[in-house]
Amino acid sequence: MNTAVIGAGLLGLQLARKLRAKGQQVTIFEASPFVGGLSAPKNYGRFVHDRFYHVILPQDTETLKLIDELNLTDKLIWSKARTGYSYQRRIYPMNGLVDYLFFPALGFFQKLRLGLGLRKVRNIQNPSTLYEQSAKDWLTRIFGPQIYQRFWAPLLRAKFGSYAEKVAAVFLHATMQRLLAARSGIAEKDSFGHLFGGYACLFEAMTKDLKALGVSIHLNTPVLRIFEDSEQKSCHLSLKTPEGQKRQTFDQVYFTGPTEVAHALAEGTAKTHAQETLKNHPSGGTYLGVLCAQLVLTKSLNPNYILNLDEPDINLTGVIEYSNLCDREAELAGNHLIFLPRYLPSTDPSFDLSDEELIPDFLEQIKKLFPNLQDKDIHSVTLDRAQRVQPLPIAGQTPGQNTDSEKDLRSPFQILNTSLLACATLNNNEVLGLLRQKNFTINGIGHDEKEQGSSNRPFSL
Ligand SMILES: Cc1cc2nc3c(=O)[nH]c(=O)nc-3n(C[C@H](O)[C@H](O)[C@H](O)COP(=O)(O)OP(=O)(O)OC[C@H]3O[C@@H](n4cnc5c(N)ncnc54)[C@H](O)[C@@H]3O)c2cc1C
Repeated sequence: MNTAVIGAGLLGLQLARKLRAKGQQVTIFEASPFVGGLSAPKNYGRFVHDRFYHVILPQDTETLKLIDELNLTDKLIWSKARTGYSYQRRIYPMNGLVDYLFFPALGFFQKLRLGLGLRKVRNIQNPSTLYEQSAKDWLTRIFGPQIYQRFWAPLLRAKFGSYAEKVAAVFLHATMQRLLAARSGIAEKDSFGHLFGGYACLFEAMTKDLKALGVSIHLNTPVLRIFEDSEQKSCHLSLKTPEGQKRQTFDQVYFTGPTEVAHALAEGTAKTHAQETLKNHPSGGTYLGVLCAQLVLTKSLNPNYILNLDEPDINLTGVIEYSNLCDREAELAGNHLIFLPRYLPSTDPSFDLSDEELIPDFLEQIKKLFPNLQDKDIHSVTLDRAQRVQPLPIAGQTPGQNTDSEKDLRSPFQILNTSLLACATLNNNEVLGLLRQKNFTINGIGHDEKEQGSSNRPFSL
C-alpha cells in the first residue's frame, strides 16, 4: 500500500514508523522547513533547545517507551521542579503541604476545603461525564464560590482568556490529574523529566530511523488540496514543493494537522469526512493558540520552574524558567532560559502582529513583574507562535460515542490529530497513546497492540 502522512510532528513521524513496520510504502509531507511541529527545536544562537517548553512526567509511559526504543534513555534527565504562585507581587512556593498551609491568600477553612476538593478530583472515575459542565460550575461546586474566585478564576483567566467560563470541566480535570500524578516523594516536589538539549535528539533519531526504513520526508511541502476518490479507493494530493506545484496519488492519506485545516483543504468525500470528524470530535472546532516569548538572560528571575500568576495587570499565562529544570551549564551554555507564554483563542488578532510589534509588550510585562530585570541582563528576546495548539472542549459539546463508522475507518482519507484525544490534556504521551488505542483499527495499526499505560480512553475510534 502506498501511503502519505501529512505533518511531520511527533504524531506524523510515529505514525509513519508504525505504517512502515506494517510493510506500507510511506511518504511524509511537512509544510514547514523542519520536523517536530510544536515540539521542534530552535537555535537560540548560544545553544539549541525546544522552541516551546516541554517536560516529561514519570507517568508518561508512551513517551518513555519511545525514548527507550530510540536508545535515548541516557539523555533523559529527571529533576525536582519547583512551582510558585505570584500574588500581589510576592512569590509563594507551592510545592507541598507546608507551603500550602502558609499561603496567605486563603484562610484555614478554605485551605481545608481546597485539600478535600483536590482529593475528590483525584478520585473521579468517569471523567467523560465532565464534558457537559463548565469548569467554572464544576470547580465552584467542588471547592465553593470563594475558593473559585480567589484561587481558580485567575488561573482559568490566565490560561483560557475569553474561554475561561466556557471551557469544559473535563479539560481541567485532565490537567489536574496530570499534575497531581507528577507529585512524588515525601517532599512532594513535582518530578519532571526532559531530554538533554530538548526534543532535538529524539527528532534526529526518528528521522534517521525513518530514512533508514526507506520513508521519504518532504519538508517545505505544504499540501494544498486533498481529493478522495472513493470509487478508485485512492486519494489525490496537490502539493506546493520547492520545485513547483505537483499532484500525487496515494492508496491512503493520513492528515495529522488540525481538523479545520483538513476541512479547508479537502474536496469531495474527504470534505464530508472532515465534517464528520469535526462533529464527532467537536474540540477540533475551537483552538487555543500561543504566543511565546523566549528570554535568554544572564541571571535568574526566580527559583521556580513554573510560576503561576494571580496578577490581574500582567498579561501572561505564566513564567516558565526552564533553566531551573535543566543543566544550565551543559545545556544552555551557562545562560538562563525563560519562556513567557500567552495563550489566546486562535482567532485573536494578535496573531497577525509581527514579532517587532509583540516583543516590546512581553518585555514590559516581565519587567513589571520583576522590576530588577534590566536590559543589560538580557542576551536575547525572541518569539514563537502557534495559532492552533490546543483543541479545547467547550462545555456541552460532548464527543460522539462510536460514531466513526466502519466505512469511515476504511476510507482512503483519514484525519488523526489531537482533537481525537478524549478526557485528556495535550501532551506528547497522549499523542503517542492515540496510535496505541485498543480499537484503533485503521488498516491494521493498533490491531495487535496492547494498550499499555496510556491514560487515554478511546472514545469513538
Ligand atoms: C507552549 C507549549 C508547551 C507544551 N508543553 C508540553 C509538555 O510540557 N509536555 C508535553 O508532552 N507536551 C507539551 N506540549 C504539546 C506538544 O508539543 C504536542 O503534544 C505535540 O507537539 C503535538 O504533536 P502533533 O504531531 O500532534 O502536532 P503538531 O506538532 O502540531 O504537528 C502537526 C504538523 O502538521 C503540519 N501541517 C499542518 N498542515 C499541513 C499541510 N497542509 N501540509 C503539510 N503539513 C502540514 C504542521 O506544520 C506540523 O508540523 C506543549 C505544546 C506547546 C505549544
